[in-house]
Amino acid sequence: MKTRITPAFREEAERFRLVFTCENCAHFDPESAGCGNGYPTEPHHRVDLVTRSELEFCKTFELA
Ligand code: SF4
Repeated sequence: MKTRITPAFREEAERFRLVFTCENCAHFDPESAGCGNGYPTEPHHRVDLVTRSELEFCKTFELA
């Protein structure tokens, strides 16, 4: 699911300490820096909310 990164979203993500990226996902394999489910990680890994204008949430994200 794609969503725009707005100033309000940046503020809420910081305030509520939202996590949604691969490095916080139970399916992430740190050794290979890949997804244990075989999905591409580029859209969800180390997302920089400051420089990006759009975020692609992974539907199979599970909090580690
Ligand atoms: S399931 Fe999604 S969020 Fe989790 S590691 Fe794989 S691609 Fe990343």
